[in-house]
Amino acid sequence: MFIIYGNRSARIKRENYNGAACSNCKSFGAEVSTYRKYFHVFYAPMLAWGRKTAVAQCVCGHHWTDEVTAEQARQAKTPVYLYSLLFVFAIGIAALGYSISKDKENTKLYVAAPQEGDVYLIKSESMGSHYYFLRLEKAAGDSVTFLHNELRYNRYVSKFAKDDYFDGNDAWTMSKQDLLQMYNDGEVKEVMRYYDDYEGFGRIH
Ligand SMILES: [Zn+2]
Repeated sequence: MFIIYGNRSARIKRENYNGAACSNCKSFGAEVSTYRKYFHVFYAPMLAWGRKTAVAQCVCGHHWTDEVTAEQARQAKTPVYLYSLLFVFAIGIAALGYSISKDKENTKLYVAAPQEGDVYLIKSESMGSHYYFLRLEKAAGDSVTFLHNELRYNRYVSKFAKDDYFDGNDAWTMSKQDLLQMYNDGEVKEVMRYYDDYEGFGRIH
């Protein structure tokens, strides 16, 4: 994608000049404009940066800077719209936090009410710490039957590796109580109910 970005300058304040008369036309009533640089993406201000600069301008066209304009620049506040990037970050972080807490909440719900097709990511501490997947094949009465996947993973993953699959001949049956115990022991890292071809959880051989 073609992205336009760079630095621009925005006038953040416009006020009367509080100093002396214009040295050119001797009249009072000049105006001070304060500017601040900002980084933009597609001309949308993302982040203000650098010093604020102020310049006095007389109606005769003469303009200048002095201690008075410097002081006016110091006092000018940078408007919040020049910091939109921080809002974008804040919203992104909040959304991520929400999505993580939603996943945890769903996992708890899915363990309590198992459904055929649910995929469990399990963390095992036996024979070295590793992760594997279980796919719920049947929930009947007090027991649940799972298929085990083929590969082991040495880190948290949310989809199958290309050549991984659930082994149709490797079924495990356990009581719902044992499943709940696994969850309470922290072995169930995540339960996924809504997934598609991308995750590969439909591959059963
Ligand atoms: Zn003037």
